[in-house]
Amino acid sequence: MLARGNGRSYGDASLNARQVLDTRGLDRLVDFDAIGGVLVCEAGVLLAEVIDVMLPRGWFPPVTPGTRFVTIGGMIASDVHGKNHHGAGSFCEHLLWIDLATGDGEVRRCSRDNHADLFAATCGGMGLTGAILTCAFRMLRVETGMVRQRTVRAPTLAHALATFEEAMDWTYSVAWIDCLAGGRSAGRSAIMLGEHARVDELPSGRRATPLARPVRRIKSIPVDLPGFVLSRASVSLFNRVYYAAQRAGDALVNIDPYFYPLDTLADWNRIYGRRGFTQFQCVLPLDASQAGLGTMLRLIRDKGQASFLAVLKRLGQESFGPLSFPRPGYTLALDFPATPANLALMAELDAVTAAHGGRIYLAKDACAQASTVAAGYPRLDAFRAVRQQYGLDTRFSSLLSDRLNL
Ligand SMILES: Cc1cc2nc3c(=O)[nH]c(=O)nc-3n(C[C@H](O)[C@H](O)[C@H](O)COP(=O)(O)OP(=O)(O)OC[C@H]3O[C@@H](n4cnc5c(N)ncnc54)[C@H](O)[C@@H]3O)c2cc1C
Repeated sequence: MLARGNGRSYGDASLNARQVLDTRGLDRLVDFDAIGGVLVCEAGVLLAEVIDVMLPRGWFPPVTPGTRFVTIGGMIASDVHGKNHHGAGSFCEHLLWIDLATGDGEVRRCSRDNHADLFAATCGGMGLTGAILTCAFRMLRVETGMVRQRTVRAPTLAHALATFEEAMDWTYSVAWIDCLAGGRSAGRSAIMLGEHARVDELPSGRRATPLARPVRRIKSIPVDLPGFVLSRASVSLFNRVYYAAQRAGDALVNIDPYFYPLDTLADWNRIYGRRGFTQFQCVLPLDASQAGLGTMLRLIRDKGQASFLAVLKRLGQESFGPLSFPRPGYTLALDFPATPANLALMAELDAVTAAHGGRIYLAKDACAQASTVAAGYPRLDAFRAVRQQYGLDTRFSSLLSDRLNL
């Protein structure tokens, strides 16, 4: 069987042809220690629910992915990274313990001191070590619900990478990258740096209620858009306009649009039409990033059908989970309409990833080769050994683990 969270992984990670356990019923916040900032909750609680309850009290998740609509169990199983990975590490760095149902009738409390091997394998273990039932993690103290954002325009890829390196002291950094621009503009990006704003930085009208969040109207896309909407020409035009519209400088922005820009658009996947879309995400080692990213951008420009959502981030230290994705370097994430041409392109991007010593993010993957994935995860054998030791390899599997022989 396999535990499933809110189904926000892009490929087949939360699917299984036999039995899937829907964990959304495990939805209770159990305890909060306001001195240490430790939250205990069940694994099916949504990150959105944690933020709704905890932000008004001055607490924010230590690490957050680009959507709030994930479960805490899903965040642990993918060991998610955020815009602060270069400083704060991945989510499981802040995880104290989990209660894990291992399918043999036991529920084991796992931590760095107790069943440490099982704890590490579950952090980023894509649900293949059992079902997480409850967990405890440390939250981050914040004074306000706003972020002080600095936008930097980088006219080339080299400028973008240099800006990230100079901005290592900023808590958050992320870039939108124009992957269709060529020539001297190849790799041009808008980099958004961020810090949680202090109360004294807010406009006077917001200081009385610094933790309030304006209500965001959720809009939806009522129909599947036809394929031509995302043509190369339209995306190229969108990118040009978007890049030109990015004003360099500082601004105060609300937490939601800074961290979760897509969350206001329900069913945003319908932009890609009925054939759907798929995502590619890799991380390349620091010393290979500029060459590897340059090659990828060239391939996408020459062969890709269009990706307007292209995100670049700087990752910090390698995570302790043997199947965890983050490692030092640059991670590029791209959405592509699922056309035969783009699927062929993704195979080429996989090959470039492997050639530069990089790795593919399992939570985003739908079509990588088992050999590419194995090459990128040198501790895969250690992961497999833990699964065998506890008999988990005969109890838990997913379409992803079947496809990639994990
Ligand atoms: C718009 C968007 C932006 C994103 N941005 C980021 C980002 O910035 N950084 C990042 O790292 N990821 C990002 N992601 C990916 C997302 O954070 C992960 O895929 C996450 O795992 C999804 O959580 P979920 O609850 O939907 O889990 P699901 O998709 O349901 O499952 C994901 C995996 O977790 C396992 N799992 C779920 N619950 C449990 C449990 N209770 N016990 C054991 N295993 C479990 C499943 O078996 C599966 O392998 C993004 C996704 C979207 C849609």
